[in-house]
Amino acid sequence: MSAEIEITGLGKVFGQGAAAFRALSDINLSIGTGEFFTLLGPSGCGKTTLLRVIAGFEAPSMGSLKINGDEVAAKGPNARPVNTVFQNYALFPHMSVAQNIGFGLKMLGKPRAEIDATVAEMLRLVRMEPMAERKPSEISGGQQQRVALARALAPRPRVLLLDEPLSALDLKLRKEMQSELKRLQGETGITFVFVTHDQEEALTMSDRIAVMSAGRILQCGTPHDIYHAPSDRFVADFIGDTNFLTVPVAALDAQGATVTLPGGAQAPARLPEGMRPVTGEEVTAVIRPEQATLAEPGAGDMDGVVETSTFFGTDTHIHLKLADGQGFVLRRQNTADLAAPDPGSTLGIALGAGTLRILKD
Ligand code: ATP
Repeated sequence: MSAEIEITGLGKVFGQGAAAFRALSDINLSIGTGEFFTLLGPSGCGKTTLLRVIAGFEAPSMGSLKINGDEVAAKGPNARPVNTVFQNYALFPHMSVAQNIGFGLKMLGKPRAEIDATVAEMLRLVRMEPMAERKPSEISGGQQQRVALARALAPRPRVLLLDEPLSALDLKLRKEMQSELKRLQGETGITFVFVTHDQEEALTMSDRIAVMSAGRILQCGTPHDIYHAPSDRFVADFIGDTNFLTVPVAALDAQGATVTLPGGAQAPARLPEGMRPVTGEEVTAVIRPEQATLAEPGAGDMDGVVETSTFFGTDTHIHLKLADGQGFVLRRQNTADLAAPDPGSTLGIALGAGTLRILKD
C-alpha cells in the first residue's frame, strides 16, 4: 500500500513564552491510500489538532507533512486534496439536499452537467435519491449527516477527514452510520482519517488505529494488535475492560517469564520486547476479562470471592476479590438456565494458556 499521508517529526505549539502549550509532539505516521485510519484518545489529547494540521487549518510548528508525495505543511487548506466533515456539519437550511451536495462543486466553478452528474452519484451513494428536493429541516438527523458526507465527498478529495462526525447522533443511528461510513469508504476508495474518543467505534471501523495521549502517539496498529498486544498500560486501559494484576516474577526463561498469581499458583506470561525484569520483581500483568473462564473453586489458576455481578444479556460481568485483595473482572457467557453467582461465594478462575501479558509501566 502506498502512503497517502506521511507525517514525520511533526509538532504543534500553541502560544509563546511562558504561555506556550505543546499540543503535539514528535508525530510520525504513514497512512496508506484507501485506508480507514482512526485517531483515538481521550479529550484534550490532540486528535482534533492533528486533524486540523492535516486539513491545513493549523500550521505545524515543526516537522513534515506530505499528502500524495507533496510537502503541504506550508500550504493552505484549499491547496490540499483534502476535505473535512465536522461534528457540527451545519447544512445550508435554505438549500435542498441536492443543492447542498452540489454547493462545493458550484464554488469550484464546475460545469452544470458535471455538477448534476456528481450530485446524482452522491445521492445514490448515500441512499438519499428520494429526498433530493427536501430541505434539511425536512429530513432526520442521520439523513442530514449523510448529506453532509455526500457534500464533502462530492469534490472527490483524496483524503476525507472526519472529526467525531457521529457524536451528535443517538446510539441506534450512530451504529447505522458506522456501517454506512465503512461502506462509503470501501465504495469510494478514499482515504479516511477519522477522529473519535470512542474505543468501540475505533475498533469496529478502522483498518488501523493510532492511540494518542498528551499530544503523542503511544501505539499505532490494527484493532487486533491494539486490543491484544497493547504497548503500555495507558493503551491497555483505554481500549476495553482490562484486568491489571501486580504479580512477582518467579522465574525467567527464553520465552518469557513465570509469575506467581494471587493464591500461589504459577503461570507463564509474555514479556514485552526489551523488558527483562529480575526474579522477585513485581510487574503488571494484563488479562482481558473474556480470556478467563470460571472453574470449580480450587480447580482454576486462582480463586476469587464474588463481590458483584452485572447482567448484560449475552454475558454477565462478575467482579471478584482475589486472595491478596486485588480485584478481577470476568465475563461469563449467559444461557437461560445460568443464575447470577451469589455475592460472597468463591469461584475458580482459569486463565487460558499464554493469556497473561506483562506490560511496561
Ligand atoms: P476533544 O476530544 O475534547 O476534542 P482533542 O483530543 O481533539 O480533544 P484538541 O482539541 O486537539 O484535543 O486539543 C489538544 C490540546 O491543545 C488541548 O489541551 C487544548 O486545550 C489545546 N489547544 C487546542 N487548540 C488550541 C489553541 N488554539 N490555543 C491553545 N491551545 C489549544
